Amino acid sequence: MSELTFQVTSFTCRDRTLGWVPEGDTIHNAARRVGEALVGKAIESIETPHPRHGRDRWPEWLAGREVRSVEALGKHLLVRFDGGLMLHSHLRMTGWWGVYPRGARWGRSPRRAWLVLRTSEHEVVQFDGPVLELMTDSRTRVDQRLAGLGPDILAGEFDRELFLRRLREDDPTRGIGDALLDQRNLAGVGNRWKSEGCFHAGIDPWRPVAAVGDDEALRVVEELIPRMRDSAAGGVQTRERAIFERAGLPCPRCGARISARGQGDAGRTTYWCPGCQR
Ligand SMILES: [Zn+2]
Repeated sequence: MSELTFQVTSFTCRDRTLGWVPEGDTIHNAARRVGEALVGKAIESIETPHPRHGRDRWPEWLAGREVRSVEALGKHLLVRFDGGLMLHSHLRMTGWWGVYPRGARWGRSPRRAWLVLRTSEHEVVQFDGPVLELMTDSRTRVDQRLAGLGPDILAGEFDRELFLRRLREDDPTRGIGDALLDQRNLAGVGNRWKSEGCFHAGIDPWRPVAAVGDDEALRVVEELIPRMRDSAAGGVQTRERAIFERAGLPCPRCGARISARGQGDAGRTTYWCPGCQR
Protein backbone atom coordinates (compact mmCIF):
# COMPACT_ATOMS: atom_id res chain seq x y z
CA MET A 1 0.00 0.00 0.00
CA SER A 2 2.82 2.46 0.68
CA GLU A 3 3.47 2.90 -3.01
CA LEU A 4 -0.15 3.82 -3.57
CA THR A 5 -0.77 6.05 -0.61
CA PHE A 6 2.27 8.35 -0.75
CA GLN A 7 0.59 10.38 -3.45
CA VAL A 8 -2.52 11.22 -1.45
CA THR A 9 -0.87 14.14 0.34
CA SER A 10 -0.34 15.94 -2.95
CA PHE A 11 -4.01 16.02 -4.00
CA THR A 12 -5.02 19.55 -4.85
CA CYS A 13 -8.39 21.24 -4.52
CA ARG A 14 -8.66 21.33 -8.32
CA ASP A 15 -8.88 17.57 -8.30
CA ARG A 16 -12.56 16.63 -8.37
CA THR A 17 -11.66 13.08 -7.45
CA LEU A 18 -10.29 13.97 -4.01
CA GLY A 19 -11.21 11.17 -1.64
CA TRP A 20 -12.94 9.11 -4.35
CA VAL A 21 -11.85 5.56 -4.86
CA PRO A 22 -12.62 4.38 -8.40
CA GLU A 23 -15.34 1.72 -8.69
CA GLY A 24 -17.06 0.32 -11.78
CA ASP A 25 -19.24 3.41 -12.30
CA THR A 26 -16.17 5.65 -12.30
CA ILE A 27 -14.43 3.42 -14.83
CA HIS A 28 -17.46 3.13 -17.13
CA ASN A 29 -17.71 6.92 -17.02
CA ALA A 30 -14.00 7.19 -17.85
CA ALA A 31 -14.33 4.70 -20.72
CA ARG A 32 -17.05 6.84 -22.27
CA ARG A 33 -15.03 10.06 -21.93
CA VAL A 34 -11.82 8.47 -23.19
CA GLY A 35 -13.66 6.69 -26.02
CA GLU A 36 -15.30 9.92 -27.22
CA ALA A 37 -11.88 11.55 -27.43
CA LEU A 38 -9.97 8.67 -29.05
CA VAL A 39 -12.09 6.24 -31.06
CA GLY A 40 -11.74 6.87 -34.78
CA LYS A 41 -9.35 9.79 -34.24
CA ALA A 42 -5.74 9.96 -35.39
CA ILE A 43 -3.42 9.67 -32.41
CA GLU A 44 -0.77 12.34 -32.89
CA SER A 45 1.50 11.37 -30.03
CA ILE A 46 1.85 8.90 -27.20
CA GLU A 47 4.01 9.61 -24.16
CA THR A 48 4.83 7.47 -21.16
CA PRO A 49 6.42 9.99 -18.78
CA HIS A 50 6.64 7.69 -15.77
CA PRO A 51 10.14 6.22 -15.30
CA ARG A 52 8.65 2.73 -14.88
CA HIS A 53 7.62 2.84 -18.55
CA GLY A 54 10.71 4.68 -19.76
CA ARG A 55 12.00 1.71 -21.73
CA ASP A 56 8.72 0.19 -22.85
CA ARG A 57 8.80 1.77 -26.33
CA TRP A 58 5.00 1.92 -26.50
CA PRO A 59 5.10 4.98 -28.77
CA GLU A 60 6.93 2.82 -31.35
CA TRP A 61 4.57 -0.13 -30.91
CA LEU A 62 1.47 2.02 -31.20
CA ALA A 63 2.58 4.53 -33.84
CA GLY A 64 0.09 4.80 -36.68
CA ARG A 65 -2.52 2.53 -35.06
CA GLU A 66 -6.10 3.67 -34.58
CA VAL A 67 -8.04 3.19 -31.37
CA ARG A 68 -10.77 0.66 -32.13
CA SER A 69 -12.64 0.83 -28.84
CA VAL A 70 -12.42 1.83 -25.20
CA GLU A 71 -14.17 -0.51 -22.79
CA ALA A 72 -14.72 -0.85 -19.09
CA LEU A 73 -14.65 -4.33 -17.66
CA GLY A 74 -15.45 -4.16 -13.96
CA LYS A 75 -12.82 -1.78 -12.63
CA HIS A 76 -10.46 -2.35 -15.58
CA LEU A 77 -10.24 -0.04 -18.58
CA LEU A 78 -9.16 -1.43 -21.95
CA VAL A 79 -8.02 0.75 -24.86
CA ARG A 80 -7.97 -1.49 -27.95
CA PHE A 81 -5.82 -0.53 -30.94
CA ASP A 82 -5.73 -1.86 -34.49
CA GLY A 83 -3.63 -4.97 -34.88
CA GLY A 84 -4.68 -6.74 -31.68
CA LEU A 85 -2.83 -4.53 -29.20
CA MET A 86 -4.46 -3.23 -26.06
CA LEU A 87 -3.58 -0.91 -23.18
CA HIS A 88 -4.83 -2.33 -19.90
CA SER A 89 -5.33 0.03 -16.97
CA HIS A 90 -6.50 -0.48 -13.40
CA LEU A 91 -6.65 2.61 -11.21
CA ARG A 92 -6.73 0.81 -7.82
CA MET A 93 -7.24 3.42 -5.05
CA THR A 94 -5.75 6.61 -6.42
CA GLY A 95 -5.65 6.68 -10.22
CA TRP A 96 -7.68 8.82 -12.59
CA TRP A 97 -8.32 9.21 -16.33
CA GLY A 98 -8.43 12.86 -17.40
CA VAL A 99 -9.68 14.08 -20.80
CA TYR A 100 -8.80 17.69 -21.63
CA PRO A 101 -9.01 19.98 -24.66
CA ARG A 102 -5.51 20.43 -26.13
CA GLY A 103 -3.60 23.01 -24.13
CA ALA A 104 -6.01 23.10 -21.15
CA ARG A 105 -4.66 22.80 -17.63
CA TRP A 106 -4.77 19.25 -16.29
CA GLY A 107 -6.59 18.31 -13.09
CA ARG A 108 -3.47 16.71 -11.61
CA SER A 109 0.21 17.51 -11.75
CA PRO A 110 2.00 16.47 -14.98
CA ARG A 111 4.50 14.69 -12.71
CA ARG A 112 1.77 12.19 -11.91
CA ALA A 113 0.94 11.40 -15.54
CA TRP A 114 1.79 7.84 -16.60
CA LEU A 115 0.35 7.97 -20.09
CA VAL A 116 -0.56 10.85 -22.41
CA LEU A 117 -2.41 10.23 -25.69
CA ARG A 118 -2.87 13.29 -27.94
CA THR A 119 -5.23 13.87 -30.84
CA SER A 120 -5.65 17.17 -32.68
CA GLU A 121 -8.37 18.12 -30.16
CA HIS A 122 -7.71 16.29 -26.91
CA GLU A 123 -5.17 15.13 -24.38
CA VAL A 124 -6.12 11.90 -22.63
CA VAL A 125 -4.06 11.33 -19.49
CA GLN A 126 -3.83 8.41 -17.10
CA PHE A 127 -2.61 9.68 -13.73
CA ASP A 128 -1.10 7.71 -10.90
CA GLY A 129 -1.06 4.27 -12.51
CA PRO A 130 -0.58 1.88 -10.88
CA VAL A 131 -1.54 -0.82 -13.41
CA LEU A 132 -0.79 0.23 -16.96
CA GLU A 133 0.44 -2.30 -19.48
CA LEU A 134 0.45 -3.01 -23.17
CA MET A 135 -0.78 -6.49 -24.01
CA THR A 136 -2.17 -8.48 -26.91
CA ASP A 137 -5.83 -9.38 -27.25
CA SER A 138 -4.93 -13.05 -27.03
CA ARG A 139 -3.31 -12.52 -23.63
CA THR A 140 -6.47 -10.90 -22.30
CA ARG A 141 -8.28 -14.19 -22.84
CA VAL A 142 -5.93 -16.06 -20.49
CA ASP A 143 -4.89 -13.33 -18.04
CA GLN A 144 -6.82 -14.26 -14.88
CA ARG A 145 -7.17 -10.64 -13.77
CA LEU A 146 -9.45 -10.18 -16.81
CA ALA A 147 -10.57 -13.66 -17.85
CA GLY A 148 -11.36 -14.60 -14.23
CA LEU A 149 -13.66 -11.63 -13.60
CA GLY A 150 -17.22 -12.26 -12.54
CA PRO A 151 -20.11 -10.62 -14.41
CA ASP A 152 -19.84 -6.84 -14.74
CA ILE A 153 -22.63 -5.19 -12.76
CA LEU A 154 -22.77 -2.43 -15.40
CA ALA A 155 -22.86 -4.74 -18.43
CA GLY A 156 -25.79 -4.12 -20.78
CA GLU A 157 -27.24 -7.46 -19.71
CA PHE A 158 -26.09 -8.48 -16.22
CA ASP A 159 -25.42 -12.23 -16.02
CA ARG A 160 -27.39 -13.19 -12.90
CA GLU A 161 -26.76 -16.92 -13.29
CA LEU A 162 -23.01 -16.53 -13.43
CA PHE A 163 -23.09 -14.22 -10.41
CA LEU A 164 -25.03 -16.75 -8.32
CA ARG A 165 -22.83 -19.63 -9.50
CA ARG A 166 -19.63 -17.82 -8.52
CA LEU A 167 -21.13 -16.77 -5.19
CA ARG A 168 -22.11 -20.37 -4.39
CA GLU A 169 -18.62 -21.61 -5.32
CA ASP A 170 -17.13 -19.11 -2.85
CA ASP A 171 -16.40 -19.79 0.84
CA PRO A 172 -19.89 -20.15 2.41
CA THR A 173 -18.66 -18.77 5.74
CA ARG A 174 -17.50 -15.52 4.21
CA GLY A 175 -19.60 -12.44 5.01
CA ILE A 176 -21.79 -11.37 2.08
CA GLY A 177 -20.29 -7.86 2.19
CA ASP A 178 -16.80 -9.27 1.72
CA ALA A 179 -17.92 -11.71 -1.02
CA LEU A 180 -19.51 -8.85 -3.00
CA LEU A 181 -16.14 -7.09 -3.13
CA ASP A 182 -14.47 -10.10 -4.74
CA GLN A 183 -14.20 -9.27 -8.43
CA ARG A 184 -14.40 -12.99 -9.32
CA ASN A 185 -17.97 -12.98 -7.99
CA LEU A 186 -19.11 -9.58 -9.19
CA ALA A 187 -17.01 -7.13 -11.22
CA GLY A 188 -17.22 -3.40 -10.64
CA VAL A 189 -18.48 -3.18 -7.07
CA GLY A 190 -16.05 -1.59 -4.62
CA ASN A 191 -16.19 -0.75 -0.96
CA ARG A 192 -18.57 2.16 -1.23
CA TRP A 193 -21.20 0.43 -3.37
CA LYS A 194 -20.92 -2.81 -1.39
CA SER A 195 -22.02 -0.95 1.77
CA GLU A 196 -24.73 0.99 -0.04
CA GLY A 197 -26.10 -2.10 -1.80
CA CYS A 198 -26.40 -4.15 1.39
CA PHE A 199 -28.10 -1.19 3.06
CA HIS A 200 -30.70 -0.65 0.34
CA ALA A 201 -31.41 -4.40 0.21
CA GLY A 202 -31.77 -4.49 4.03
CA ILE A 203 -29.13 -7.22 4.35
CA ASP A 204 -26.53 -7.41 7.12
CA PRO A 205 -23.11 -7.45 5.35
CA TRP A 206 -21.78 -9.75 8.08
CA ARG A 207 -24.27 -12.52 7.33
CA PRO A 208 -22.41 -15.58 5.95
CA VAL A 209 -22.92 -16.23 2.25
CA ALA A 210 -24.50 -19.62 3.12
CA ALA A 211 -27.28 -17.81 5.00
CA VAL A 212 -28.06 -15.40 2.16
CA GLY A 213 -30.70 -16.62 -0.30
CA ASP A 214 -30.34 -16.24 -4.05
CA ASP A 215 -33.21 -13.74 -4.03
CA GLU A 216 -31.46 -11.69 -1.34
CA ALA A 217 -28.10 -11.67 -3.15
CA LEU A 218 -29.89 -10.61 -6.34
CA ARG A 219 -31.76 -7.91 -4.44
CA VAL A 220 -28.41 -6.25 -3.59
CA VAL A 221 -27.51 -6.26 -7.29
CA GLU A 222 -30.94 -4.94 -8.35
CA GLU A 223 -30.61 -2.07 -5.86
CA LEU A 224 -27.16 -1.23 -7.19
CA ILE A 225 -27.63 -1.44 -10.96
CA PRO A 226 -29.78 1.70 -11.44
CA ARG A 227 -27.74 3.70 -8.92
CA MET A 228 -24.43 2.74 -10.51
CA ARG A 229 -25.81 3.36 -14.01
CA ASP A 230 -26.88 6.86 -12.98
CA SER A 231 -23.49 7.49 -11.49
CA ALA A 232 -21.66 6.14 -14.55
CA ALA A 233 -23.71 8.45 -16.75
CA GLY A 234 -23.18 11.52 -14.60
CA GLY A 235 -19.64 11.11 -13.31
CA VAL A 236 -18.12 10.51 -9.92
CA GLN A 237 -19.69 13.46 -8.18
CA THR A 238 -23.23 12.17 -8.53
CA ARG A 239 -22.72 9.14 -6.33
CA GLU A 240 -25.27 9.14 -3.55
CA ARG A 241 -24.54 7.67 -0.18
CA ALA A 242 -26.98 6.64 2.49
CA ILE A 243 -24.51 5.19 4.98
CA PHE A 244 -20.99 5.03 3.49
CA GLU A 245 -18.56 6.98 5.71
CA ARG A 246 -21.46 8.01 7.95
CA ALA A 247 -20.55 5.99 11.06
CA GLY A 248 -22.24 7.26 14.22
CA LEU A 249 -24.89 9.23 12.32
CA PRO A 250 -28.57 8.23 12.36
CA CYS A 251 -29.71 5.70 9.75
CA PRO A 252 -31.89 7.44 7.13
CA ARG A 253 -34.36 4.50 7.29
CA CYS A 254 -34.75 3.66 11.00
CA GLY A 255 -32.74 6.25 12.93
CA ALA A 256 -30.37 3.77 14.65
CA ARG A 257 -26.69 4.69 14.67
CA ILE A 258 -24.70 3.56 11.64
CA SER A 259 -21.82 1.17 12.47
CA ALA A 260 -18.44 0.72 10.77
CA ARG A 261 -15.85 -2.03 11.01
CA GLY A 262 -13.09 -3.56 8.86
CA GLN A 263 -14.22 -6.70 7.04
CA GLY A 264 -12.44 -9.50 5.18
CA ASP A 265 -8.74 -10.13 4.62
CA ALA A 266 -8.19 -6.63 3.27
CA GLY A 267 -10.00 -5.06 6.25
CA ARG A 268 -11.94 -2.63 4.07
CA THR A 269 -14.37 -0.71 6.28
CA THR A 270 -17.96 -1.87 5.98
CA TYR A 271 -20.77 0.50 6.98
CA TRP A 272 -24.12 -0.87 8.04
CA CYS A 273 -27.17 -0.19 10.18
CA PRO A 274 -27.65 -2.72 13.00
CA GLY A 275 -31.24 -1.48 13.37
CA CYS A 276 -32.66 -2.43 9.97
CA GLN A 277 -30.17 -4.67 8.16
CA ARG A 278 -30.78 -8.34 8.97
ZN1 LIG B 1 -31.52 1.47 9.91
